[in-house]
Amino acid sequence: MNMIDRRAPKDRFEEIARLRHEARQIRDQGVAVSFEFFPPKQPALATSFWQAADELTALGPRFVSVTYGAGGSTRDQTRTLVSEMQARSGVPTAAHLTCVGASRAEIDAIADSYWLAGINRLVALRGDPAAGIAAGYTPSPNGYAYADDLVAGLCRQHPFDISVAAYPEVHPQAQSAQADLDHLKRKIDAGASRAITQFFFDVDCYKRFLERAARAGITVPIIPGILPIRSLEKTASIAAACGAHMPDSIHARLAGRDEDAAARIAVDIAVDQCRALLKCGVRHFHFYTLNRADLTRAICAEIGMGANVSLRR
Ligand SMILES: Cc1cc2nc3c(=O)[nH]c(=O)nc-3n(C[C@H](O)[C@H](O)[C@H](O)COP(=O)(O)OP(=O)(O)OC[C@H]3O[C@@H](n4cnc5c(N)ncnc54)[C@H](O)[C@@H]3O)c2cc1C
Repeated sequence: MNMIDRRAPKDRFEEIARLRHEARQIRDQGVAVSFEFFPPKQPALATSFWQAADELTALGPRFVSVTYGAGGSTRDQTRTLVSEMQARSGVPTAAHLTCVGASRAEIDAIADSYWLAGINRLVALRGDPAAGIAAGYTPSPNGYAYADDLVAGLCRQHPFDISVAAYPEVHPQAQSAQADLDHLKRKIDAGASRAITQFFFDVDCYKRFLERAARAGITVPIIPGILPIRSLEKTASIAAACGAHMPDSIHARLAGRDEDAAARIAVDIAVDQCRALLKCGVRHFHFYTLNRADLTRAICAEIGMGANVSLRR
């Protein structure tokens, strides 16, 4: 399917116009959002990917981003989607880039091609091997070893706007919480403009992390990553792998619910989290959209960042 030529039907144009109106409301309140997508795993999922991208970019996010598959598995797909999303939506689109499975020269060439294509935002990461984080990590021969090396290398090439990852509950492979914070500081000092956190559910933990980061001299924004819970089982399994604590109360609220009830509860959980974060002064939320617009739009609407939407599947 030619994605560029796809035409939206009239009702979708009207919907997009309404969403653009909602976007003005968001900006008026000084609250910003950004949305993360991943390359669709099968060609058949391209339609739902672009539907979600169109609906969410119409909300006027500060930026959107497209991930880079574990082990560098989506290199070409990420590259194509990033360029197409920026051209199609006009929203600044960041390309995720990892150190895994490539030499410095190869990564430099990818970064160079982004710059020449007008993509000047990157999310610079160490990445995980294709088999997952549990498989352990060995830097590639002649590669960038860790994300701080990558940030420094990218900054030497071009004046990219670079985001990096941060872990309020500590990265699972970190030697200690302090070592992890020191690594975050190194990434910022190497030239990153902001950090985006791993998803979390414990707002107090995020607050303590901000305090520790401030004491360590980290002054850039640390944007909370919000994951709407689409599937309790999958979220619990991802949370366990990346060291994010899922409180028992979340399990109790969602276990055994049918799909509609679970979606409504998932929105409530994320809305409560965002409201607590707003009270702490947070004014930018980064949503892990899982390539679906419904939950994220409903959450944005509930916290006053758009008109109410019904949950659709
Ligand atoms: C917002 C966000 C987006 C993500 N997007 C992607 C993506 O698109 N593709 C993907 O594959 N993964 C992605 N990930 C997952 C990420 O790649 C993994 O969490 C990975 O395990 C760590 O990447 P990092 O950039 O945080 O690594 P780093 O900051 O390099 O840290 C990795 C670990 O090594 C330690 N460390 C850092 N420097 C050193 C050093 N010099 N010596 C010893 N230890 C060190 C750190 O404390 C930490 O434990 C994302 C994560 C987040 C939070």
